[in-house]
Amino acid sequence: MHELSIVSSLFGTLLEKAREHNAGKITLVKLKVGKLSGVVPELLESAFDMYKKETIAENARLEIEEIPLKIRCRACGTETEITTYTFFCGSCKSPDLEILQGTELFLEKIELEIDEPSSP
Ligand SMILES: [Zn+2]
Repeated sequence: MHELSIVSSLFGTLLEKAREHNAGKITLVKLKVGKLSGVVPELLESAFDMYKKETIAENARLEIEEIPLKIRCRACGTETEITTYTFFCGSCKSPDLEILQGTELFLEKIELEIDEPSSP
């Protein structure tokens, strides 16, 4: 399952960031997932739920934002957001397209709870 390896490496990043900031808890994780990244958000969520157990992200909320697919026409230069699986330029209907966004997956935001150093 593709999503498991994604979440596995995601947790590596998350825990590293938490350590960098001396955070005791991860409260929110926001991902952006391109429509063409091949990732199923539901599977990503269940993999996340599996991995977060007994970590500092145990109570973290996962938010997934889907990035629409965006293409640029090589014939006329028009940029079109593709919402269905018809791959044509929105202006001149040319099928000669360059994909601008929609295939990526990245970590948009993490919210951490920082442990206050106990005052003497
Ligand atoms: Zn065009």
